[in-house]
Amino acid sequence: MTAQSSRPTTDATTFACEHNHTSCIEEALESARMVCEKEGERFTDLRRQVFELVWAEHKPVKAYDLLSELSSQRSGVAPATVYRTLDFLQAQGLVHKLESLNAYLGCSQPKQDHQGHFLICESCEEVRELESKAFSKSISEIENTQNFQVKNITVELFGLCAKCQDQNVDPTGNL
Ligand SMILES: [Zn+2]
Ligand SMILES: [Zn+2]
Ligand SMILES: [Zn+2]
Repeated sequence: MTAQSSRPTTDATTFACEHNHTSCIEEALESARMVCEKEGERFTDLRRQVFELVWAEHKPVKAYDLLSELSSQRSGVAPATVYRTLDFLQAQGLVHKLESLNAYLGCSQPKQDHQGHFLICESCEEVRELESKAFSKSISEIENTQNFQVKNITVELFGLCAKCQDQNVDPTGNL
């Protein structure tokens, strides 16, 4: 195993400050539509709205925040409806649930079968989703050595994003 690639590999999505988020949302909506179409599911207005709200920022969104946001857009949305819609989006792999935060995040690679690995910034709350082969490999090893069948993997790493490391100052302070 001596083969080495000199190309830098990027296996993470970028943070909001590093890209055009408008086209990012448009692309996400387009792939969500395609995923639903492929699965023979309808990407209804409600599903699209909830999805857009989850994608509004690259930050985890709590269901009750979604609910209040959604209520301002359309009337008579029951909490159960929102949860059902989130369950649907989660089942289609369009959003992830961050267990430790009890919040939802749009998936950056919905067409790929993957488990969620996340880098969560404690300061600005932005979340980067990692496509980490290394984690998956370790998990397979654990399955083999422990004779344990892993069904659900969520890795949530908390810390400081590059931007917040640079601004390692009191976030409430004046510039
Ligand atoms: Zn974006
Ligand atoms: Zn994902
Ligand atoms: Zn940050």
